[in-house]
Amino acid sequence: MAEANSIKVVGGGLAGCAAALSALMHERGVAIHDPARSARHRVCGEFLSPEVHASLDQLGVWTQAAALRPALMYSMRVHFGRRVCADRLPEPAIGLSRLRLDHLLRAAALAGGAEFVPERQAPSAGCVLATGRQSGAVPGDRIFGFKAHFSGPPGDAVELYFGERFYVGVNPVEDGITNVCGLAPESLLRRLDFSYDRLLELTPALRDRTRPLARTWDWLTTGPLVYGPTRFPSLIPSPELEC
Ligand SMILES: Cc1cc2nc3c(=O)[nH]c(=O)nc-3n(C[C@H](O)[C@H](O)[C@H](O)COP(=O)(O)OP(=O)(O)OC[C@H]3O[C@@H](n4cnc5c(N)ncnc54)[C@H](O)[C@@H]3O)c2cc1C
Repeated sequence: MAEANSIKVVGGGLAGCAAALSALMHERGVAIHDPARSARHRVCGEFLSPEVHASLDQLGVWTQAAALRPALMYSMRVHFGRRVCADRLPEPAIGLSRLRLDHLLRAAALAGGAEFVPERQAPSAGCVLATGRQSGAVPGDRIFGFKAHFSGPPGDAVELYFGERFYVGVNPVEDGITNVCGLAPESLLRRLDFSYDRLLELTPALRDRTRPLARTWDWLTTGPLVYGPTRFPSLIPSPELEC
């Protein structure tokens, strides 16, 4: 049972577990509510910009994250059709799978004393709302995300491939794995019979990059993605409401 003055975090993904770890550092009790009992693969580019090192350090989990031997990326390459922009990154970026990162943060929060409540919760005033991206009805051509892991030459750059109305990111994560993740509108996916493998053939640069790779699991998809204001505007703290 959560203490009366403990902080209620709704959602135990990256944001919720990071919030829980922060609260524990301030010696507050925390209860994390999430129906998902354990971390799972998520549709995500799994690219962490260099600043994440400092954030994970502040949360006290950098040493454990480094022990997972994340891939390091030293440069970026952005392909627009036949044009390529390439540059070195000011500091190395990190590639770590979401399964590992989510698991690490949740395990650290629980080890630090957070209570885990395996339930869906309605957001309420005063809670930390960390329920993540929202799906739902959106007007127009709906956008879907997709991701899979591949084996093969991993590279040491984050690569983005833009095609007509879609993009795909390719970057290494731990253990020599390459993550391939993108976004595309439903109309394009329908034209391809929802074959993400066919989508990788749509631009020559993306085709050349991904052909030597072998997909190691089925595509994971998410959507339709909703970009825009929060569903819960009434929960945005007003000056009178202290969260
Ligand atoms: C295609 C794509 C590519 C991306 N690439 C990158 C990238 O390369 N790098 C990067 O940093 N970010 C990337 N992102 C964004 C990243 O995935 C999100 O920023 C991140 O997942 C947000 O974390 P979160 O904790 O807010 O939400 P989530 O990770 O979605 O976690 C939300 C949690 O809340 C739980 N939950 C939901 N509703 C309730 C409820 N009512 N009660 C209790 N629990 C609930 C869910 O079970 C889930 O565990 C990408 C996103 C997409 C779609």
